[in-house]
Amino acid sequence: MKRRTALITGGSRGIGLGIAQHLAQHGFDLAINGVRPEEAVQETLQSLRAAGTDVIYCPGDVSDAAQRARVLQKAYGHFGVLHVLVNNAGVAPKERKDILETTEESYDRLLDTNLKGAFFLTQAVAGRMIETPGLNGCIINISSISATVASVNRGEYCIAKAGLSMMTQLFAVRLGAHGIPVYEVRPGVIATDMTAGVQEKYDRLIENGLLVQPRWGYPDDVGKAAAMLASGALPYSTGQVLMVDGGLTISR
Ligand code: NDP
Repeated sequence: MKRRTALITGGSRGIGLGIAQHLAQHGFDLAINGVRPEEAVQETLQSLRAAGTDVIYCPGDVSDAAQRARVLQKAYGHFGVLHVLVNNAGVAPKERKDILETTEESYDRLLDTNLKGAFFLTQAVAGRMIETPGLNGCIINISSISATVASVNRGEYCIAKAGLSMMTQLFAVRLGAHGIPVYEVRPGVIATDMTAGVQEKYDRLIENGLLVQPRWGYPDDVGKAAAMLASGALPYSTGQVLMVDGGLTISR
C-alpha cells in the first residue's frame, strides 16, 4: 500500500518537528518546510529519515505567494499526493508592544505568516485533495491559546491566531462534503525557541502551583495530538479545537 504523506510548515524545529516525529512514527512520509537553507537542517532531516521515512525539505517563506508555490511544487513533484497539511509555521512579535503602539510592519508580518500563509496553502492543497476522491485527506492548523486569551501586548499574534481559528471552521464547512476534516490544535506554552523569553515567568507559575498540570508543554505533546488527528482517529469530528495546554486556560 502507498504510504501516506504530510506537508508540515515550520517542521524544521520546535512544535513542527515534534509533529514530524510523531507522523513519521505513524508511517507518514514527510515534506518539511522552513525558511532556513537545507544545509542548516540536514541533521534534523537525517534524524527523521532514520526509521525509513522518506523526508524531503521544501524551503520557503509561507507569507510569500511565489515561495509557497515552490514549496507545493517540490512536495507534489516528489510525492504526487499530499494526504495531510499541517499549517504550523508561525512567528511571534519581535518585540512586545501595547496594542496602542503596534506597528504596521509587525502587524503585517504576523498576519501574513501566521494566517495568510496558512489560508492560501490550505486553499491550494484542499483543491488538490478534492480532485483526488478517496484520499482521506485532513488539514490541521496549529493555533494558540492566544486565539481566545487577549494579551494586549501582542495583539497582532492574538488576532492572527483567532483568524486561524475561524479559518479552521470555514474550511471545515466547505470541505465537509468532500470528506476532508479540518482541525485546530491549540497549544498552551510549549518549550521551544519561541518561548525562550518567557521561561522564567512560566517556571514561576509552575512553582507557585498555578497550572493544572504543573509542567512545561513539549513539542512531543503537540506532536501526539496532531498525529492522532492525522491518523483519522476522530472521523466524525471536524472544525474542532483540541486543546494541548495542560489545563492552563481552564485554570484561569
Ligand atoms: P519556533 O520558533 O520554535 O519554530 C518556528 C518554525 O516555523 C520553524 O520551523 C521556522 O523555520 C518556521 N517558520 C518561521 N517563519 C516561517 C515562514 N515565514 N515560512 C515558513 N516557515 C517559517 O516556533 P514554535 O515551534 O514554538 O511554534 C510553532 C507554531 O506553534 C507557531 O505557529 C506558533 O505560533 C504556535 N504556538 C507555539 C506555542 C509555544 O508555546 N511555543 C504555543 C502556541 C502556539 P526555520 O527553522 O527555518 O526558522
